[in-house]
Amino acid sequence: MAIQWFPGHMNKARKDVTERLKDIDVVIELLDARLPASSANPMLARMAKGKPRLMILNKQDLADPAITEQWLAWYRAKKQTEALGMDAGERAPAQRLIAACRALAPNRSGLEKPLRVLICGIPNVGKSTLINSMSSRKIAKTGNMPGVTKNEQRIILADDFELYDTPGMLWPKIEVEESGYNLAASGAVGRNAMDEEEVALELLKYLLRHYRAELAARYKFDVEALDGMQDWQALELIGKRRGAVLSGGRINMQKAAEIVLTDFRDGQTGRITLERPAEWLEWEKRAKVL
Ligand code: GDP
Repeated sequence: MAIQWFPGHMNKARKDVTERLKDIDVVIELLDARLPASSANPMLARMAKGKPRLMILNKQDLADPAITEQWLAWYRAKKQTEALGMDAGERAPAQRLIAACRALAPNRSGLEKPLRVLICGIPNVGKSTLINSMSSRKIAKTGNMPGVTKNEQRIILADDFELYDTPGMLWPKIEVEESGYNLAASGAVGRNAMDEEEVALELLKYLLRHYRAELAARYKFDVEALDGMQDWQALELIGKRRGAVLSGGRINMQKAAEIVLTDFRDGQTGRITLERPAEWLEWEKRAKVL
């Protein structure tokens, strides 16, 4: 699915991040646990090459716990990489985050060599929520420091631990088709940049493949009735069940699509993850061939 990004903003953000990375010890990337690979930023991975990385699978309360485990194992198997599952319900996230970063950069500690950490993530992944929950103590705006972008925040989480918020916004360049759909389904893409019916149909296709029980429970279907059902048939039925009907009895597919997307985003459909490591490898392979 075509999504329109803004290359000008991206170049500026890339320059700012490259500059900031020079004196960063650990890079944290906040991912959406429902779509870890699609919400990651391959450009950031290239820029931060050689630096220890902490992948946080955020919003894990909305994701399928078994698949989150698979992703955590996948990231932990990478060099110099740790991974944690988190969500906004955690009371003291700073403790786990600091401990993981310290383990990744054991040579940095004490006031002489404070650990400097950069936190990145695509919009809507929950970065502000996490930063706010950790930084009730001290937030230092770093606007007047040389080499630091205006609006960039430096958060002192401990005397020898500095967390920098990413300057600017980094959007992934979407190379894998499924990523566009998954980002759109998650709510990371503005309504005007996507066709909701198309996105809802892709989501239903995935739910029919992997989450039939959840789909049946949410919309009061018999699980058996979902056997062999097509995505558009499911959308029609959901529209009918929920009263998304136009005059003349036709189903209002746009309204039905909105229902499906809103239910998914709010976690009403259940704890669902839209991609698994093995699937992701296949999608990537296919994207390279095309
Ligand atoms: P940012 O754009 O990355 O700074 O994202 P925000 O912190 O503004 O969060 C975007 C939306 O996700 C908000 O509606 C938050 O309430 C919600 N959110 C953030 N973290 C979590 C989480 O762990 N679980 C759930 N369910 N929602 C979250």
